[in-house]
Amino acid sequence: MPTRQKWSAEHMNILVTGGAGYVGSHVVEELLKTGKHQIVTLDNLQKGHPEAVLGGEFIKGDLTDTKLLDEIFREHAIEAVVHLAADSLVGESVEHPGKYFHNNLVNGLNLLNAMVRHDAKYIVFSSTAAVYGEPVRTPIDEDHPHVPTNPYGESKLFFEKIMARYEHAYGLGHISLRYFNAAGASQSGAIGEDHRPETHLIPIVLEVALGQREHVAIFGTDYDTPDGTCIRDYVHVTDLANAHLLALDALASGAPSTAYNLGNGEGFSVREVIDMVEQVVGRSLPQVEGTRRAGDPAVLVASSRRIMEELGWQPRYHDLKTIVQTAWDWHKRRPHGFGE
Ligand code: UDP
Repeated sequence: MPTRQKWSAEHMNILVTGGAGYVGSHVVEELLKTGKHQIVTLDNLQKGHPEAVLGGEFIKGDLTDTKLLDEIFREHAIEAVVHLAADSLVGESVEHPGKYFHNNLVNGLNLLNAMVRHDAKYIVFSSTAAVYGEPVRTPIDEDHPHVPTNPYGESKLFFEKIMARYEHAYGLGHISLRYFNAAGASQSGAIGEDHRPETHLIPIVLEVALGQREHVAIFGTDYDTPDGTCIRDYVHVTDLANAHLLALDALASGAPSTAYNLGNGEGFSVREVIDMVEQVVGRSLPQVEGTRRAGDPAVLVASSRRIMEELGWQPRYHDLKTIVQTAWDWHKRRPHGFGE
């Protein structure tokens, strides 16, 4: 059984929930690279892929299982948690709000309560730009009003508030990372995006390039943007992952609890993204102009100044071309994703 070491940024026993998912698997990969930590990944594999977990210990299980949580915290002397296990589809959350509040809040509470029982002091939480709702100013900083427009964003915002209450009551240190549009794939080529069904723009366009879809539908061409299509802030998944490591180190070194945006600070329209994919794959791709998707704001661009200034975060895979290129390398290598 591992022994609990004195808190330091040098070594931690870390539980990653949802570590077999897209962002989670990249977090695990970056944690492994440090060579410093003991890592346990917990994932129920509803969406995740066991192959995506590149090392450490993997446990298939669910946050509903409080007995399992007790065992994990006890046996692995877990000191810190990176919590990514959640449902994360906006549209589905509108249709099935109960599922989202249950999985993201009730199950999340099981995790927090296990942390309290076992004296695990730090949590880095996978949050979202959806906590802000319809932007009233851009770029969006962390103090932008929090008015989520769907149950997904609401569940994430509420969990942030719960963590603040747990800090007050039990001393839980927490950093929420509010992702904008996660994209790209690890340069190692070992892991990448594999959602089933896929709903995200870049992998969808790449599936067209692979001949797996006939065309990409552009969801709305009448937005108040220069080319009429929605503008989003795409951030490389490895850069996102590294922010989790910085947040863990910060908490372990006594930094205060807070929330940080994670984006590149530069927006690209749907048409610009499709153009970039065409450039990377070297040919034009069929596209059709469709209607707006419900709940899509015209522009979502982050100010990530706070995490850059306070934790020294610097996106390394900053430009859209690199983001798309890494995603394309992954999709070419694994056209049918994990396990096939
Ligand atoms: N989008 C699109 N066609 C698609 C998928 C997405 O036009 O098949 C648009 C979507 O409306 C949004 C942007 O691409 O403006 C990014 O969508 P995605 O689902 O990748 O991420 P989200 O912004 O919803 O987190």
